[in-house]
Amino acid sequence: MAKKKVATAKEKNHLDKVASLGCLICGSPAICHHIRNRGDGKGNLGFGNRATAYETIPLCPSHHVGVFSIHNCKEQFEAMYGTEAELLQRTLNEIKNLNEVNDFFNYNKGENNG
Ligand SMILES: [Zn+2]
Ligand SMILES: [Zn+2]
Repeated sequence: MAKKKVATAKEKNHLDKVASLGCLICGSPAICHHIRNRGDGKGNLGFGNRATAYETIPLCPSHHVGVFSIHNCKEQFEAMYGTEAELLQRTLNEIKNLNEVNDFFNYNKGENNG
């Protein structure tokens, strides 16, 4: 039986941040969708090659698994909103901005302490 891969604290932290961005499409509360295609020309990720915590995008339940969603209507979804690889890039950029804001606050805290 395959061992279930447990997310490290760092990965969990990243997943929390992804979810906290809200749905990329509508801004509703989101959960993390693991992308299936990195867009690197290597094709779809197989089950043995599951996306990591860093290859997830935030989507609300209806854009994730609803009637018109990335799971049920992928071609139209990608045509309208961008490919998984593009959405991942957007997600990572937003997280990077988030991290910079956090760094800024930490930096200021450091100043106050000392
Ligand atoms: Zn949505
Ligand atoms: Zn999904």
